[in-house]
Amino acid sequence: MSTTHAKKPKIIWLNTLVFAITFLVAAIGVPWYGFTHGFSFGLWMALLGTIGFAGISITAGYHRLWAHRTYDAHWSWRILFALGGALAVQNSALHWSSDHREHHKHVDDNDNDPYSAKRGFWYSHIGWMLREYQAARYHDYNNVKDLQKDPIVMWQHRHYLALTLLTTIGWPVAIGWMLGDIWGAVILVGFARLVINHHTTFFINSLAHIWGKQTYTDRNTARDNGFLALLTFGEGYHNYHHIFAADYRNGIRWWQFDPTKWLIRTGSWLGLTRNLKRANGYQVEKAKLEMQFKKAKAQSDVGCETTLAKLHDEFDALLLRLREYYQVRKQLLDGKTKALADHMPTLDELQQKVAELRDALQQHKRAFRNLLQQQLAQQAS
Ligand SMILES: [Zn+2]
Ligand SMILES: [Zn+2]
Repeated sequence: MSTTHAKKPKIIWLNTLVFAITFLVAAIGVPWYGFTHGFSFGLWMALLGTIGFAGISITAGYHRLWAHRTYDAHWSWRILFALGGALAVQNSALHWSSDHREHHKHVDDNDNDPYSAKRGFWYSHIGWMLREYQAARYHDYNNVKDLQKDPIVMWQHRHYLALTLLTTIGWPVAIGWMLGDIWGAVILVGFARLVINHHTTFFINSLAHIWGKQTYTDRNTARDNGFLALLTFGEGYHNYHHIFAADYRNGIRWWQFDPTKWLIRTGSWLGLTRNLKRANGYQVEKAKLEMQFKKAKAQSDVGCETTLAKLHDEFDALLLRLREYYQVRKQLLDGKTKALADHMPTLDELQQKVAELRDALQQHKRAFRNLLQQQLAQQAS
C-alpha cells in the first residue's frame, strides 16, 4: 500500500517548532519593530548580504558541489559553504545531499522521492519535513559514500548543531553589536532572514515542479521558471537541471539569471574551483528540439499518416544538421586548444565552416518550425 494512504507518521516537533516560531517572530516582529524602532540602512544591507551568503552556500555548495559533484573546490571554498549551509539551517550537507540524490533518482515517485511534487504543493514545500515520512531511510547515508571521504563534509555533519547555533545566533548578534541595534539585528538578520532563506529554497521543491515551462523534458514535473531563478540564485531552471544534473550550470543561456553559475565560474579563474562539468551541447539542443516537436504534434493532433511521416523525416534531417554542426564545432575547439599549445596560426577555415554551419542550422530550424505550423494549420482547417 502506498504510504500516501497509510496512517500519518509521527510529527517531528523540532522541525515543526523551528518553522512555526521563526515564521511567527518574523511576521509579527518585523512590522512591530519597524514601526516602533525602525531598522537602519546598515541592517537592511546585512539582511541582503546574509540572505545571499546562506542562499548561495546551499546552491553552489550543498546542491551543485556536494549533491551533484558538478565541479571540485578548494578547501577554503568548502569550509565557507559548510558554514553558510549551517547558517541556512537545512541540515548537514551530507544529509541534504542524501535526500537530494533520492529526489533525482526517484523524482515524482510518491514513496521514494523524499519531496515528491506529486504529493502536492504543501508536502513538497514543507510538509515532508514535518513528519517522519522517511524515518527508515534516515541515518542511512549509503548514497553519499563519496562525500563521507570529504573531511570538511564530515566535520560539518558531526558538529552541525553547534555550528548552526553558533552561526544563526552569533552572526546576527555580532552584526547588531557592530551597528548598535542587537534586537533589530536578531529580528531582521536572524529570524526574517532565516524564513526568507528557507521558503525560497523550498520553492525549488514545490513551485519549480509546478509552475513554468518544460523546455527539455516532460518525463518529470520539473519546470524552467525565470522568476523563481531570481529568488533562488539561478536554481529556477529546474527542468534543465533535472535532465542535465551533472552540469554546473542551471541557466545555460548568457541572459538567464544564474549567479551560482557565475560564482563557480569566477572561482575557476581564481583557482578555487576546477573540473567544471557541462552537458554535451548536441544533447541539450536535441532534447529541446524533441520537446518542441512533441508539443507541436500534441497541440494539433495530426491524424494523417503521410503528413506525420514527412514531418518525422524533416525532423531527422534537422537532427543530422545539428549533429554535423556540433561535430565541426568540437573540431574547431580541439584545434584551437592544440594551436594554442603549438603556437600555430589560427584555424580560419574551420572557423568559417562553423559559422556557415551555424547559419545553416538556424535557417533549417526556422524552416522546420514554419513547416510544422503550415502542416498543422492545414490539419486543423
Ligand atoms: Zn527537483
Ligand atoms: Zn539537483
